[in-house]
Amino acid sequence: MKKAVVLILILSLAGLGAIQYRFLQIGLKYAKARFDQQMGQAMQAAQQGLYPETQLTVLLAAIVTGEQGNFQLGVDTLADAGRNFFKDYLKDRMLGKGVNVDFDFALTDVPGKNSYLQSAGYVASSDFMDYQAPVNGYISEQCQCNLYLHVKAHNLLSYLLGQLNVLIILNVAFFGLVAFCFLWLIYLLRQQATLDEVKNDFINNLTHELKTPVFTIGMTAKMLQERCTSDKDLQYLEIIREENELLKKHIDKVLELASMENGRQAVERQVLDVHEVLEEAVAGFRLKVEQQKGSFTFRREAENAIAFIDPVHLGNAVHNLLDNALKYSAPPVEIELHTYNKSGKLCIAVKDKGKGIGSEHKDRVFRKFYRVPDGDVHEVKGFGLGLSYVRQAVRMHQGEALLDSTPGKGSTFTIVLPLHH
Ligand code: ADP
Repeated sequence: MKKAVVLILILSLAGLGAIQYRFLQIGLKYAKARFDQQMGQAMQAAQQGLYPETQLTVLLAAIVTGEQGNFQLGVDTLADAGRNFFKDYLKDRMLGKGVNVDFDFALTDVPGKNSYLQSAGYVASSDFMDYQAPVNGYISEQCQCNLYLHVKAHNLLSYLLGQLNVLIILNVAFFGLVAFCFLWLIYLLRQQATLDEVKNDFINNLTHELKTPVFTIGMTAKMLQERCTSDKDLQYLEIIREENELLKKHIDKVLELASMENGRQAVERQVLDVHEVLEEAVAGFRLKVEQQKGSFTFRREAENAIAFIDPVHLGNAVHNLLDNALKYSAPPVEIELHTYNKSGKLCIAVKDKGKGIGSEHKDRVFRKFYRVPDGDVHEVKGFGLGLSYVRQAVRMHQGEALLDSTPGKGSTFTIVLPLHH
């Protein structure tokens, strides 16, 4: 169960991560579209500014044509000046359209083979970071050629991610929070599992240690009873013996359940007539009910009661149900053990007319240590282990334990077992 929860959590986290990643991709696509639009506008603005005769276009025309004209500068110095002024010019147009990205540029002829002027880092290749526009007007008239302007954005991906900054930070923060909670949950689950183990070990060790003194008390009480002559003392010794028996029963119940949970309990299943096992289980019980002036009936209606069972565990389970029926009924006690076949299965029902169980407790009563809350007082003492044992034993037989109950009217616990074919 816990493993399944961890697996579901891991899958959810992976799914959540994948969805976040997809959202990020969509966000990037959207940011790129917006960037393309801004760059388109910036290129248009640059085109328009390069159309008339200005200081810049005159300088650029001199570089493109190779005729220095009025510029009393060497070719290289002229090109350097052109690069600087042109870069500033382009940067200004781009900032005007809201684009603040590092870039390289080039002025080429139309096929883009011949570059008249370019920044140091410019590499001719057309990719998603490359923006182009024709340059008409003064410069192309001077050189009698067709010109193209290329602008290439640097590190566009990090620039676009920068635009999505808030979104990414929130994304990472929330994802981190969910991952943290997830790890915390796993830590708590593991801690709980360890704690459960420690608790169970403690209970089992304690009950085991109690066995020897209980056995010794029983033996000693028996020996004293044999020697004792006083009626009063005999009575006291009988009380000690009875209470000791009760204690022994409780200890055995805890140990049986623990060993069954650990899978240490030997299970010896055989093909048997369940009626015979039930007859043995009810023999002493009938007497007990009669002592309390109650009535007990055993209705053997199942035509087929042959099943593959462990007689000890099945007997104990039925015994627990009968014991409960007696414990939780007020006189006059009316208990019935009923077997029948239904849907190809064998049903063993224990019916009482006792206090009943509310629907909100129906599933919980089969849990270990669960007792129906009774205010602060529990009229009937117990540890909440009997039904847990019943469920374990029945599951061991690939069967199920059912409960039908009406508070104030009584309960019917039914063990459903597969038949042997
Ligand atoms: P215990 O009887 O030792 O408390 P069980 O596991 O046998 O433990 O039962 C769990 C709880 O279910 C009991 O505390 C009781 O409240 C309720 N219960 C069990 N059997 C009956 C019954 N026949 N009628 C009413 N309540 C019952």
